[in-house]
Amino acid sequence: MTAIRLSHPPQRHTPFDPYRINVDLHCHSNVSDGVHTPEDIAERAHANGVEWLALTDHDELGGVARAGKRAAELGMGFIHGVEVSVTWAGETVHIVGLGVDIENAALVDGLARTRGGRAGRAQEMADGLAAVGIPGALEGAMKYVGNPSLISRSHFARWLVEIGRCDDVREVFGSYLVEGKPGYVPHRWARLPEAIGWIRGAGGVAVIAHPGRYRFTDLERHAFITEFRDCGGEGIEVLCASHTPDDARRAVLAAREFNLKASRGSDFHGAGESRVELGKLGPLPDSVEPIWAQWGIG
Ligand code: AMP
Ligand code: MN
Ligand code: MN
Ligand code: MN
Repeated sequence: MTAIRLSHPPQRHTPFDPYRINVDLHCHSNVSDGVHTPEDIAERAHANGVEWLALTDHDELGGVARAGKRAAELGMGFIHGVEVSVTWAGETVHIVGLGVDIENAALVDGLARTRGGRAGRAQEMADGLAAVGIPGALEGAMKYVGNPSLISRSHFARWLVEIGRCDDVREVFGSYLVEGKPGYVPHRWARLPEAIGWIRGAGGVAVIAHPGRYRFTDLERHAFITEFRDCGGEGIEVLCASHTPDDARRAVLAAREFNLKASRGSDFHGAGESRVELGKLGPLPDSVEPIWAQWGIG
């Protein structure tokens, strides 16, 4: 078991019930592809009744101290987090790191390398869109970027909605930004062992983000989770915005089969864009152990 790094001493419920506490361990600020500032995320989470929050921006730690400072002012528990982009067997998967030391050099360097290719990729995405009669996409996307080193497909999606190409970002992804579509550019992110190594080396725990989203065969899924476990990964998201009830059931089965702890996170990106608000997911089923049960928070 890893000792988790908590931002400030927990205030205990008595008795402590890990299934009851409002924990949200996955969300984004405009330091990656979220809409709101890190401070606003902390305020919004607190207003929604979140007791422990982790900010998990993509490949970036720049918002963590800011959100953590606001969380401390509000008396809300806060956990330092990140969501690392990984390429495994040609598929993009996301690994959430919780409780990381945000000054750990290997983690900081690894994330810088992981996000390093985003600028070139964004130019290629814009070229692909220009080729189908949509010029100016890079400049358009940049209007939505809060952090120039973290330009993401989400920023293109917001601009494509703005210019009326689609009604919402979900539709943009299906029509323009997924494999086989004009704005899609394949990219090689971090390798699974190195991403888990950075997280663990920085004192954190690694969690498989939204497992229901990956288009794996059963065999691939088994191999992926086996490798994740063998590299020291400890958790899997059971409840998150993109999971159907069936996805959640499958994640519960995986947690039990591979002896992983269960996590829960809204993956909130912004008001009006995200399916689930900060802190508004339901409780975990009692057939799995919440990953935070071992942290002594409450
Ligand atoms: P990127 O890291 O640039 O490849 O962008 C990935 C981000 O795009 C994810 O973190 C989500 O925020 C967003 N995203 C991916 N697929 C979809 C989708 N189908 N609908 C809406 N947003 C999506
Ligand atoms: Mn995102
Ligand atoms: Mn993700
Ligand atoms: Mn996310």
